[in-house]
Formats: sequence, C-alpha cells, structure tokens
Amino acid sequence: MSSTLADALSAHVQGPVLVPGAPGYDDEVAAFNLAARIRPDVVVGATGVADVVAAVRAAREHRVPLRVQSTGHGAERPVTSGVLVTTRRLDEVVVDPASRTATVGAGARWGAVVERTAEHGLVPVVGSSSNVGVVGFLLGGGLGPLARSHGFGSDRLLSATVVTGTGDVVEADDGEHADLLWALRGGDAVPGVVVAVRIALVEVPALYAGALVFDTPHVETVLRGWLDWTAHADDLTTTSAAVVRMPPIDAVPEPLRGRTVLSLRVARPGPVDAGERAAAPLRALAPAMIDGLGPLAARDSDRIHGDPTAPAPVWTGGALLAGAADGFADAWLDTVGPGTEHPFVAVELRHVAGAGGRASGADAVAGRDAAFTLGLVSVGPEARASGPGAAERVLAAVAPWLADEANPNMSGALPGRWRADVAARLDEVRRRYDPDDVLGSRAAVPSGVH
Ligand SMILES: Cc1cc2nc3c(=O)[nH]c(=O)nc-3n(C[C@H](O)[C@H](O)[C@H](O)COP(=O)(O)OP(=O)(O)OC[C@H]3O[C@@H](n4cnc5c(N)ncnc54)[C@H](O)[C@@H]3O)c2cc1C
Repeated sequence: MSSTLADALSAHVQGPVLVPGAPGYDDEVAAFNLAARIRPDVVVGATGVADVVAAVRAAREHRVPLRVQSTGHGAERPVTSGVLVTTRRLDEVVVDPASRTATVGAGARWGAVVERTAEHGLVPVVGSSSNVGVVGFLLGGGLGPLARSHGFGSDRLLSATVVTGTGDVVEADDGEHADLLWALRGGDAVPGVVVAVRIALVEVPALYAGALVFDTPHVETVLRGWLDWTAHADDLTTTSAAVVRMPPIDAVPEPLRGRTVLSLRVARPGPVDAGERAAAPLRALAPAMIDGLGPLAARDSDRIHGDPTAPAPVWTGGALLAGAADGFADAWLDTVGPGTEHPFVAVELRHVAGAGGRASGADAVAGRDAAFTLGLVSVGPEARASGPGAAERVLAAVAPWLADEANPNMSGALPGRWRADVAARLDEVRRRYDPDDVLGSRAAVPSGVH
C-alpha cells in the first residue's frame, strides 16, 4: 500500500517523497521533541500549494490519515501510518511595512519573521521561543512574554491560505470562509493544511525586560511575594516565575550549576523609567543572584525566558489557573517547591490575566479569562514515562484553582479543553471542511468538552 501511495505521490509532487528506510527519511520526519514518535508510511516535503493539494488528495483517495509537521515543537500525537506533510520548505516571509503586515509561509519560524520585520521597526506578537513555528503557535492562540500588553498571537491573524481536507484551496479571512479563520485562531487541530498566513505586526519602540534569578533559599519568599504582587500589577507588565533545577553539568555556568533557582521574568513595553518603577517591588523581594532586567530590543525578546534551542526528548504538561489566591502558593510550593520529589526540571507559572482582549467566543482561543498558565517540563529518555503520572498529581494538588478551559499550546501533551459551545462549533467547522476527517482533526480534539 505505502509503495503504491508513494508512487502515486511521486508522480504529482515536486518535493521529496520518502518511505521508511529511504535516504533522507529520518531527517525529513525529525521533530524538535526527540521523544516524538513520527513514522509515517510516506513523508512529503512540500515545496508549494500544488504539493500539498496532491498529498491531501492522495491521502483521501487511499483512505489513509494525513498529518502536518513544521518544527515538531508540538509533536505530541504519534504518527504511525499514512502521509506526513512537512512544511519547512514553505518558509517565505514577505513584509509590507505600509500595511504593517507580513505574509508568512507555513514552514517559517518566528525568528525568521522577526528578522525580516525588525528592519522596518515592527515585530510580530511572539511566544517565549522564536524557534517555534508560526502556524502551530497561532493555531493554539499563542501567549508570549507580552501577553498582557498585546494579547494572544492569533488576535493578529488576518487571513490564511488553506488546503482543506477535500483538497480544495481556500483563502480564509473575516469575509470569506470566516468560520474557518475563526477556528484557526486558537482551535488547534485544523481540517486542512495551512499553506501561508497573513499577520498584523506591532510597533514596540521600547521594552523593559529580562529575568531576575533568585537562589534556592529565596525561592519561597519570592514566589509568594510575586503572587501577591500580581494582584495589583499594572496591565502592561507581563511576568512569569519558573522554578528551575539546573543540572550539575559544565554547560551550565557557575553560580547556577546544580542549583534550584527561581527565574522571575518581566516584560513591559514603554520607557525604561516606567519599567524600573514597575519592577522595583519585585527587585525588593530578595537579593537576586543574577539581575538580567533592563532595556531590551523587542526583536531580542527570546532572551527573556531563554528557552532551549537544541532538540531533546521532552515531556511537557500544563493547565490554566482561574486565580492563585487563598492558599495556592502553599499547594504549589508543597508539590513542586525546592526539596519536593518530582521529575520536572522546570515548573512555571505565567501571569496572563488581562490578555483577554477580544470577547470570549469571537474566536476559538481557549483560556481568555485565565489568570495564570501552569507548565511542567521534564527532559530525558524517561520523561515520557514519568511525566504524565507526576503531572496528574500536581494538577490534583492545585485542582481548586484550575480554570475550566485548557489552552492547547500551554497544555503540552495534555489535551486542550474548550467551552462546550466553542467545541461544538469547532466540530461543525471540521466536518464541513474535512468531511472524511483525512486530517484526523475531529479525533484529535474531543468535542463537547466540559
Ligand atoms: C520551547 C518551547 C517554547 C514554547 N513557548 C510557547 C509560548 O511562549 N507560547 C505559546 O503559546 N506556546 C508556546 N509553545 C508551544 C508551541 O506554540 C506549540 O507547541 C506549537 O504547536 C508549536 O508549533 P510548531 O509548528 O513549531 O510545531 P509542530 O509540532 O510542527 O506543529 C504543532 C501542531 O500544529 C500543526 N501544524 C503545524 N503546521 C501546520 C499547518 N501548516 N497546517 C495545519 N496544521 C499544522 C501540527 O500538525 C501539530 O499538531 C512552546 C513550545 C516549546 C517546545
């Protein structure tokens, strides 16, 4: 079957069409998350819309599933059969400074977009890592270091070119195929392959940002102080606090090597003096072992979180919190604070209250009303085995504070969760654009969620 399918594809596709064992197959399917199981019967390295159309039509005709991969940062669902379309060759970025927009190919990473837009004094609204793919990020909504001042990344998704599950090419915007664009803004699994997106850019002429790193004896005080501070934080300042276990290896510089530290990240667009005033209460919480907070060019926002850029086997899980008052700090510290037993190298809370912007339901974003995101990261060959059970225990400990919805980008390997009316509408859109569920989007996301 796979050789018949591969033969049929080779006849119509310009890019590589590879089966397991063929030279180049392993590189073509490789994901950023090395723990991902990605072994399709055939991988198609798309070079343009026509390749994508051919792949979707062939998958539909042969009744096999089709999946899409850009960078593999979100490669949570195993791919064990069918066709995988890789988008990395669709990496064109065209900036229109006059309309403050960029048209971005589906295989581009945020870093490439930032590089092209910054020369015009503009930036996209990105996440903590510019190594992440543009389309995958937008499909989950997209919450970054400027979440509270600039909202979700997908708030600035203007239109998209999509090859639907029927193999038709459609341009989705707020006029035509508006329901499809609604679903692409945060609805996660798509009933088609996105080929390109057009996004609005923003101007961030000044940014006060970076991280304060506190050593183990101060973790509890700073975490409690920060949580109290968030209750009154000005609505331009986005902060997050990660307790990180630094491995005792040479690659980690002294004095961090082998320490459990708290990294308190801050980002506030606006002048330096206003940023300094906003951050002063955080600096006063305890003496920082590293003070990396100061003026930062928006194009360098990657430095705020300092996310890993090298592929590794990883398991991540996460959730949203409706709030973090009334004993949350005790529950969090008792479960994942310094000295507790768990397999996570980083446990993170991001304060995102106020990132709502749009009215809930105006798009398919899950978690507009959340106050915090919660993230758990384990790394290494054992991560997949130990992560899920440990995450279940952490989430049980903070159950009283969990939000009803779960944002797919912030949930890692755990499923996203939408309001029931949003989930029902997503299901409807998926049925319309991919009646045979070639993309498997209906199976990926349970409908009728809570
Ligand atoms: C280090 C790191 C930092 C992160 N930081 C943030 C952050 O700050 N904020 C945030 O919101 N999220 C963040 N994420 C989560 C990230 O946004 C999601 O995992 C996202 O799905 C990754 O997209 P990708 O294209 O890079 O990955 P991929 O694994 O290639 O794709 C992710 C999903 O999108 C689908 N997809 C990709 N391209 C297409 C396409 N063209 N058409 C249809 N479907 C497609 C894939 O099938 C897959 O299901 C982070 C993840 C990592 C690993």
